[in-house]
Amino acid sequence: MTTHAMPDADTQATLKQNFDTVRQRLHAAAEQAGRSVDAIQLLAVSKTKPIEYVNAIAEQGQTCFGENYLQEALEKIEQRPDLTWHFIGPIQSNKTKPIAEQFDWVESVDRLKIARRLSSQRPPEKDPLNILLEVNISDQESKAGFSPKEVLEAAKEVQTLRNLSLRGLMTIPAPSDTLDAQRQPLAKMRELLTQLQQQLPEAPLDTLSMGMSGDLEAAVLEGSTEVRIGTDLFGARN
Ligand SMILES: *Cc1c(COP(=O)(O)O)cnc(C)c1O
Repeated sequence: MTTHAMPDADTQATLKQNFDTVRQRLHAAAEQAGRSVDAIQLLAVSKTKPIEYVNAIAEQGQTCFGENYLQEALEKIEQRPDLTWHFIGPIQSNKTKPIAEQFDWVESVDRLKIARRLSSQRPPEKDPLNILLEVNISDQESKAGFSPKEVLEAAKEVQTLRNLSLRGLMTIPAPSDTLDAQRQPLAKMRELLTQLQQQLPEAPLDTLSMGMSGDLEAAVLEGSTEVRIGTDLFGARN
């Protein structure tokens, strides 16, 4: 068995506690939603955190990790190729090649040009790269993503790209304070995915990536199949 570098004992204990708390929140939210917790994947968002933190959370049984910054991510992937890595950050078109080569999933595809490049740069001997289209559901000027109106046309083309597997949608909604307000854009996302599933019945559209530390419960209530948790697992970022 390989041994992986670990943080100090206090940090390990804190990370384990955080992991248990997030799992409990997921269980409680799933129960409230009348859903199986197994239908909701936890993505551990390790951006800005050292590999020792990734190792400590992986030791709790966590296998899927999300990263936003390419250089940092590539260093971690090199050390833990056994884990499943999701790219969730903004993508510059001149940086698509290492993303296509090293990641298992890309959740932040926000324009067709990026999807085309990822497909042509994905090594054909690897499994197809799993793709989510990012949707700017709250119509924020500052946010990337397809508008809800554009996303169906985009999905039709992405579905034809040979080295990609279009799996669903991702969103980062505008923050709101109350559960009811949080649920509104997330409900729209679920409707969008349902439309996509009806229009593209051949595509394996099984993934709705929504919910972060502050809106995990709302997301699970609205049908999220993947929550992306950074702060509440790893602590505040610098
Ligand atoms: C950083 C990040 C997260 C995690 O957010 P937290 O609020 O820290 O849980 C989730 N999704 C994306 C796309 C992110 O960039």
